[in-house]
Amino acid sequence: MNEKDIATPSRTMEILKKYGFSFKKSLGQNFLTEPNILRNIVAAAAITKETNVIEVGPGIGALTENLARAAHQVLAYEIDGRLIDVLHETLSPYPNVQILHQDVLKADIEADVAKQFTDSYPIKVVANLPYYITTPIMMYFLETALDIQEMVVMMQKEVADRITAKPSTKAYGSLSIAVQYYMEASIAFIVPKTAFVPQPNVDSAILKLTKRVTPAVQVTDEKAFFRLTKSAFQQRRKTLWNNLTHAYGKDEKTVIWLEKALEIAEIDRKRRGETLSLEEFARLANAMNNLPKDDN
Ligand code: SAM
Repeated sequence: MNEKDIATPSRTMEILKKYGFSFKKSLGQNFLTEPNILRNIVAAAAITKETNVIEVGPGIGALTENLARAAHQVLAYEIDGRLIDVLHETLSPYPNVQILHQDVLKADIEADVAKQFTDSYPIKVVANLPYYITTPIMMYFLETALDIQEMVVMMQKEVADRITAKPSTKAYGSLSIAVQYYMEASIAFIVPKTAFVPQPNVDSAILKLTKRVTPAVQVTDEKAFFRLTKSAFQQRRKTLWNNLTHAYGKDEKTVIWLEKALEIAEIDRKRRGETLSLEEFARLANAMNNLPKDDN
């Protein structure tokens, strides 16, 4: 451990004290104070001098410092204006870091990337995410036109479990499908709450997401596919049929359309949504799509 690392408990305390910093719970501020965990995050992301990194929420720069040492360039978005001066000081030894004082969800990341990254190396997202907006941040990076090859992000363990869940488990839901459609997802390791100041109430997990060359399943209309998966989990205790008629309608035309689509997809309407695999959802979505309601 390098005594000068930002993330050592003593250096973190020194920095926080120097700036009279008080944590804002509403911004999900839980800072990592375990240099080993930070190094393991960087290792899990396989960052090299030919990787550019986007970080969300650098805090006082604990993870940023480790990313800067390993990566070509780092672009970090921090919403809290009180941290900008701190970051300029703590990260002054790393000219390859660019800090942007901005809400990541409002940023024009594509424009920032074009401006800040001087070489077209692969881009990875590595972050200890603010927990209150984990899902919107992930969805942004999944759907962006930017070519994000890999994401290694820390989140509440419970959310990481939902993302990596398999069918017929309690954790499986529309979020599992939304992420697994684009990325291969696995939990790299668990981080105990004792690794943070202040300590959160729950343990965290490092989730590793690797972009698939093509989506996990072939669908004719992505929007319709995601609408279907969301509808199927609307009320988990109800059958697929109940959720489908609730979402799409109970009128005669719709009922016939749904019945036919289920028959073509060879899916029993009495099943629960949570038992359907991505392939089955894709089959059903495609059948619904190929069978316009108005033709019935
Ligand atoms: N990276 C640091 C670490 O690992 O110690 C801090 C991580 S802390 C969990 C989350 C950080 O995200 C905080 O610094 C917080 O101010 C910042 N943050 C919260 N909401 C944000 C947003 N919408 N855009 C950018 N940063 C945000």
